[in-house]
This record gives sequence, C-alpha cells and structure tokens, in this order.
Amino acid sequence: MSELAIFGGEPTVREPARTVWPVVSEADVARVADAARRGEISYDASEGMVAELEGLFETRLDRPYALATSSGTAALHSAFFGIGLAPGDEVLAPTYTYLATVMPIVACNATPVLVDAEPDTGNIDIDDAERHVTSRTRAMVVTHLSGHPVDMERALRFARRHGLKVVEDCSQAHGAATSGAEVGTRGDVAAFSLQGRKLVAAGEGGMLVTSDTTVYERAVMLGHFAARSETEVSTPDLVPFAKLGYGLNYRMHPLGAALAIGQMERLDQYLEWRADNFRAYDQILRDTPGLAPAPRQDHVSRHGGYSYQPLYDPAQWGGLPRSVFIDALRAEGVPATVPTSLPLHREPFFSRAETGITTYPVDPDRRLYRAGDLPRSEEYVRSAWRLPAYPQPLSTRMLTGMAEAFRKIAAGAERLRRHTRAAAA
Ligand SMILES: *Cc1c(COP(=O)(O)O)cnc(C)c1O
Repeated sequence: MSELAIFGGEPTVREPARTVWPVVSEADVARVADAARRGEISYDASEGMVAELEGLFETRLDRPYALATSSGTAALHSAFFGIGLAPGDEVLAPTYTYLATVMPIVACNATPVLVDAEPDTGNIDIDDAERHVTSRTRAMVVTHLSGHPVDMERALRFARRHGLKVVEDCSQAHGAATSGAEVGTRGDVAAFSLQGRKLVAAGEGGMLVTSDTTVYERAVMLGHFAARSETEVSTPDLVPFAKLGYGLNYRMHPLGAALAIGQMERLDQYLEWRADNFRAYDQILRDTPGLAPAPRQDHVSRHGGYSYQPLYDPAQWGGLPRSVFIDALRAEGVPATVPTSLPLHREPFFSRAETGITTYPVDPDRRLYRAGDLPRSEEYVRSAWRLPAYPQPLSTRMLTGMAEAFRKIAAGAERLRRHTRAAAA
C-alpha cells in the first residue's frame, strides 16, 4: 500500500469532482429572463410564477395551502405566528438544528424549550421531549436534519397525547419521506427554505404549507399585501384586519420563484442522483474496518440527500482522534468535514439571563443551559462527520479514488496513531 498523502504520498483522488449547484437549465434562464423583460418583478397577490411555484408544492404535498415567503426563516416565523402562539407558551424544539428553527419562536414572544438529540441522526429525541412537557407546552418543532426525516408517526403520537401543534422544518429534506409520507404532509404546518444550497433553490426564498385555514390566513396577514389577504382571508375573527394585515413583508421575489420552478420539477431526479452517491458511500464505509454507513432508521422511506453524515468512534480506531482521521482523508483529496455549529444550548442566548432584547421580555422563567445539559446532542457533534452530498452522479474514477483513500487510511491507522502520539508528546 502506498504512503499516506498526509505523510507526503500521492493523493488517491487527484481531481476533485466538478459539480454545479444549483442546476440551472436553459429553460430556467429563459423563464427568469422573460419575466425580467416583461417587468414581472413584484406581485400584489398570488400571481404568475409565485402562484405557479406554490401550486407545485400544493400538488406534490397534497395540501390546500402553500405560501411563498422571502426565506425559510420567514416561513418558520409565519408558521409559529400562524399557530397562534401567545406569551408564556412553550415550544419544544431541537437543540441541534439551524438557528432559524428556534429563534422565530422568541420573535413570537413564546419560549423555546430545547430538547436533546438522537445519538445516531442528530434529530430531535422524542423520548427526551417527553421529559420537557409542562402545562405551558403548546407546540413542538422538528427539523428533518441533513435529509434524514424525523419519525413522524412517533412524533405525531407524542404530540397528540399532549395536545401539541407540530411544526415541521423541512429546509434540509425536500422530498424526503417517512413511513411512506413525504415530510411536510403530516405536521400542522411545514416550512421549507429555498436558499441557494437547498434542494429546491430560489436563491433566497421559503415556502409554508398547511391544511389549516386559520394558520394559512394568519401567515398571509403577517407578511403579504392587502391584495392577497383581502381576497384570501375568510376566518370571521381575522376578516376585519385583513386589509391592513400585520405589517411585515415576507413576499418572495418573483425571479427567485422563476428559478425554483425548474428545481421543483427536477426534485426527484436530484434525489435519485444523491441516493446513488449515498449508496456508493455506504459501500465504501461498509468495506472499511472501523466505519459504518451513515445511520438510517427503519421508518425512512426516502432520504432527502442533503448531507451524508456517518459517525466516527475513536475506540474503533485505537483512539485515533476524529480530527486526524479527517485530516488524513482530506490529504487524500476526499473533502470530508465535521459539523461546525454547536447545539443551541451552548450559545450565550440560551445560557445567559441577559439577551440584548429590549422590545419585549424574554421569558424570565426560562431555563438557562450549561454545557452537558443536553449531552447526546454534544456527543453527536463530537462524533458526526460528513461527506459532501455531490449533486450530480460521481464518476467511477472519483469513487474508486475515494475507496482507495479509505483503504489506505485503514491500513495506515497504526502509523497515524504513532504520529499523533509523537506530536502530542
Ligand atoms: C436553511 C435552513 C433554514 C433557514 O432558511 P433561510 O432560507 O436561510 O432563511 C431553516 N432551517 C434549517 C434546518 C435550514 O437548513
């Protein structure tokens, strides 16, 4: 076996895979350019390309309402506003997620109660959620992290037992499915990000979907023109306020919608490409002593392919630290990484009484967290690592080079351990 690249040997992956994301077809370009030429760059109601994109979500998810927003964050804020949170309400939320899953709860003047993570997927742990239910708990938000869906059957059973609304953050899981149902079809309301890295990319944009008329109408009134709310709001309690609305602007840019229409039409193709790459990764990791494929729970009918996240156990590698394992892979030309963001309970906002917010009181009784309080989320961040979810099928050459890199590293593990011990001494 040749010398490891980290010690000066030849890298096994010589040319990094060249892939493009988002995919932009000539038809996408024409759709955007034609709209720009027509001056179709803002709408008052659900019209034109925004209406078309909303229709694609409604059809795919078989939901009566889809509302395009300016971002996934805006969709989440609209969802929490839509379910009618009140001051003092508690919302169970994953500690390990992107901040936009949780901070809009604070913007609604309700209290996020952070829940620990599953050790295999990093997703919200429903057993732990059970421990945090109080008489003030009103809702739960779940994030389908990295494209691995949350077990919605289980989440919904738990929520029904406690009378909680369920918000789904589907920003990393467009098209993923659990127990045969796509994410975004089971919760009371779901939010998708259409940011540039997401599987349906508008650049900046989001989508709220729901079957609940009141949730939808409140969301329309929060962030859309009177032209939309006056025609679409029919709930008697809301009608008197529909003309004015609630004053924010969360409308999607029509040119972003134009770009996302083609993405949405190609979503199944994207998912298949990523699934092919993930299957190849599974095989490579199965063939490497001390590694296992990225965890996939039994309820998963379709993975969203956002990110491939296996776990690293140093005990399987004679104590070799994850960082050295990753450095050795990177030296071979395999662009492996580790998660960079901490669980939210490790952020000062969740550990200090003072928040910097002066406009409204942040719940004075909320829990302030310390390191180690939600230990499995911290363990997940310590053990997870990532292979990039290449958006196009990887070449045989790239996959062969990657497989060779893992074989070399497994064979050179003892040398890596000696080197690590020497560097530490
Ligand atoms: C990207 C993302 C968001 C926020 O979306 P924006 O469109 O960037 O506002 C929210 N939640 C998760 C899990 C995300 O990955």
